Amino acid sequence: MTLLGDYEKFVNAFLDKNYLFISYDELDLKNDKQVILRHDVDVSIDLALKMAILENNSNVKATYFFLLSNLSYNLLADENIKKVKKIRELGHNISLHFDLSIYKNPRKSFIKEKKIFEDVFDENINIISIHQPTKAFLSNPENYFSIQNTYENKLLKKIVYFADSGGSFRYGSPLKSKAFQESKNIQLCIHPVWWMNSKKTVQKTIEEVLKNKSDNFIKHIKSTIKTFN
Ligand SMILES: [Zn+2]
Repeated sequence: MTLLGDYEKFVNAFLDKNYLFISYDELDLKNDKQVILRHDVDVSIDLALKMAILENNSNVKATYFFLLSNLSYNLLADENIKKVKKIRELGHNISLHFDLSIYKNPRKSFIKEKKIFEDVFDENINIISIHQPTKAFLSNPENYFSIQNTYENKLLKKIVYFADSGGSFRYGSPLKSKAFQESKNIQLCIHPVWWMNSKKTVQKTIEEVLKNKSDNFIKHIKSTIKTFN
């Protein structure tokens, strides 16, 4: 399997076809040629920032969703807060990527996470993306939380949905799809990890990400524990 390749070329294909990159609240089902570019940041804020800069250079805007409760990164670390704010300054939207699989009472925990996110980033969020949706949730995702989520009909059935989960487009590249040829409205879920620094295989890509993370972590530990070198 080869990974996805040249991201700049990929987003430019949409611009060449006169697609408009919009935010979730701008979607107008009476129009076509709209693409909502969604980024679920599962692994690395650094890679998200890299992608955000590249998109800004191409005049493309996206919505970035970040995890609060996870082992991949600490969203509340000072330098990560700065990076996420930088992503917003580049013209993108930011919101919460909510992992409901870890909670006994997801609705209650959601209210807590939403409040933290909004306080830290001084932001009012009106849509969230779900990380690892459970069967119970998927059986009826409509109005599940107090605000919209990306699995609702309006975003999954009324417009066409593509995702690069696991490092490839399971149902073929959006650029080769009938929906794209016909300028249909599209929600496009892109995980930065599969495009930024991507290697030939999933395995090699993840190894590269882990190496960068481990280098940074060692630097951090050295600065925290003075007697360790
Ligand atoms: Zn996710």
